[in-house]
Amino acid sequence: MEFALDAEQRAWLEEVRAFLAEHVTPELRAELAEHDLELPGGEVAAFRRRIGEKGWFGLSWPVEYGGLGLGPVHQHLLMSEFEYWGVPGPDLTVTSVAPMLMRHGTERNKQEFLPPIARGEMICAVGYSEPGAGTDLASLRTRAVLDGDAETGAWVINGSKIWNSGAQRSTHEWLCVRTDPEAPRHKGISVIIVPIDHPGVTVRPLIAWSGYRTNEVFFDDVRVPATNLVGEANHGWRYITGALDLERGALTNAGDLRRAVDDLLRLARSPREDGVVPADDPQVRRDLARLDADVEAATLMGYEAASMLAEGIIPSVEVSVEKIFTSELRQRIAVAALDVLGPEGLLAHNSAGAPLAGRFERLYRAAPLLRFGAGANEVLRDVIAQRGHAMPSYGR
Ligand SMILES: Cc1cc2nc3c(=O)[nH]c(=O)nc-3n(C[C@H](O)[C@H](O)[C@H](O)COP(=O)(O)OP(=O)(O)OC[C@H]3O[C@@H](n4cnc5c(N)ncnc54)[C@H](O)[C@@H]3O)c2cc1C
Repeated sequence: MEFALDAEQRAWLEEVRAFLAEHVTPELRAELAEHDLELPGGEVAAFRRRIGEKGWFGLSWPVEYGGLGLGPVHQHLLMSEFEYWGVPGPDLTVTSVAPMLMRHGTERNKQEFLPPIARGEMICAVGYSEPGAGTDLASLRTRAVLDGDAETGAWVINGSKIWNSGAQRSTHEWLCVRTDPEAPRHKGISVIIVPIDHPGVTVRPLIAWSGYRTNEVFFDDVRVPATNLVGEANHGWRYITGALDLERGALTNAGDLRRAVDDLLRLARSPREDGVVPADDPQVRRDLARLDADVEAATLMGYEAASMLAEGIIPSVEVSVEKIFTSELRQRIAVAALDVLGPEGLLAHNSAGAPLAGRFERLYRAAPLLRFGAGANEVLRDVIAQRGHAMPSYGR
């Protein structure tokens, strides 16, 4: 196995870094620190436009779908670098929705949705979870009924989604709905693309412990063209599970972890307010060395998943291992950071004297999400046992 990047991949990384050095301005950083991604028409929007102009939203897609045809390893390297710099890059619309449209969408789905996604103009919120359907996603109840025929008719949608992240700044929903209530649970589900500005869609904010905004979204007799159905009716479970595997791979990119540990190593060498230099303590040095090595392992796991994608395989067991490892590592880094930083580490963003503008305090509150988001780690351990080690499923 070859662990090092080849000359072309290193050159690509340099190109990405040069772009970031030019376009990650103090104004962009200030807007992200103050408003995250929420300011319409601001620096973040301008930054996204520049990514679109480079063609980097579709950088890994085949040329026939408006992509650059560079492949998943290039995409992975770009996303790691964007995360290291703490700026938004290709999101789940690009990394998990679009690949499912390419694999399973109708010709019309591809023509209609892929070009605006590649330009960065179409952004999807992923509508899976419902109040009664989280881990047990197959019990989802949001209902879509076809009125008319599959060409000229309309889907009429009723129900609600919860924890629907990004709906407030998305143009569409990648919406999972029940289309055949008589079929076995996994077999009566479809995916429909729903424009969020359609009449009958209501988005209400839900604020998580970390301060992160997510949403409840209600669908009240929402009518969308029948052709917005992705692929075939009642085959949605396959598209959802494929998209979730891709989501796990994309979400567990270790770029932000590398940055966090690099920052922590630097802070540990400097005196705190109380005069203590954390790195003088051998236990702190051991803990940080361990985190540093674990981030390196996570980085290699990311390369493994990207290489599998490059071979046309959607990694499942591998990204489950990676997702468990990186989500627990993120939490360990946050805990270690608060130890290293001492009492000031508890100061939140906008508090005077907060180290790194409160980034580690925020990480401490945000880290738990990835232990259950995109599939609870307990369930992914079952996935590893069953798919990876051919063990019997629980209860059978
Ligand atoms: C901030 C935030 C953003 C989110 N964004 C989105 C989004 O954009 N789109 C979306 O669709 N969803 C989103 N989610 C939802 C997220 O994916 C769910 O919270 C997650 O799938 C768990 O579902 P649940 O909350 O209903 O918990 P439950 O399903 O009730 O599970 C709670 C816990 O019980 C345990 N558990 C449950 N079932 C099992 C089992 N079979 N075996 C072992 N242990 C089990 C696990 O520890 C699990 O964490 C988001 C959630 C949050 C908090």
